[in-house]
Amino acid sequence: MPATPAWPPESAPRLYVSTPLSEGAAVPVDGNAAHYLLHVMRLKAGDAVLLFDGTSGEWLARVEEARKRDALLLVERRSAAPDRVPDFWLCVAPIKKARMEWLVEKATELGVGEIHPLLTRRSVVDKVNPDRMTAHMVEAAEQCGRNSLPIFQEIQQLKAFLQNFPEGRHLFFADENARAEGGAPVAEAVTSHSGPGAFLIGPEGGFTEEERDLIRALPQTVPVSLGQFILRAETAAIAATAVWMAIAHS
Ligand code: SAH
Repeated sequence: MPATPAWPPESAPRLYVSTPLSEGAAVPVDGNAAHYLLHVMRLKAGDAVLLFDGTSGEWLARVEEARKRDALLLVERRSAAPDRVPDFWLCVAPIKKARMEWLVEKATELGVGEIHPLLTRRSVVDKVNPDRMTAHMVEAAEQCGRNSLPIFQEIQQLKAFLQNFPEGRHLFFADENARAEGGAPVAEAVTSHSGPGAFLIGPEGGFTEEERDLIRALPQTVPVSLGQFILRAETAAIAATAVWMAIAHS
């Protein structure tokens, strides 16, 4: 659930629902979502709620029935078109749970289109919980005004990911050794490589030399430096995404 906004709320609360939305749709709400609307936001019959389902945009709905533990919402009209987020993938070796949840939340706020979890030789974490990740993406989207969710892809080996990497997409390789090995500063690299992008970020222990060779062998790869310091994986992921968004969006 999003953080409790100031009371009284200036604007209607935003809620993600898995029910497909359309004009006139009746949307039953129970559990945590009902608790949030009825007891945190203290909505009554007739109050407005903004709903989104991740694909059809955002819809203005009203509370039709408000009971103790559940409610019925009625969709009136679409209030915003589906998001057009830039075509950007964040490709990361999963890191420890809390840090990964933070990374997923920030990536959602920054407009990332897809998150690709990748298994590398030094990955400390070898599995992710997609439901938990989705819950963090939903909470970030409800808070930041986004009505789409990043696609959280299946976890896969780095090697398979590289073998299937699409032609027309740049793979910016965040390499902390890049400065020594001729990687460009990130802003320069992103500016000179427009179009669909992806950033590849290693695990806490970094990439092995063999992995670096594999990554650099890909024609789509653009090695970049994120500066002189060794950043934590989640810092590197968000810094890289922010730079790409700032340039690609300008
Ligand atoms: N091997 C490092 C730790 C890796 S940091 C060490 O010496 O301890 C985790 C990941 O963040 C790296 O694999 C890289 O993708 C990214 N990263 C960290 N600092 C970076 C920098 N200054 N430039 C580019 N990428 C960086």
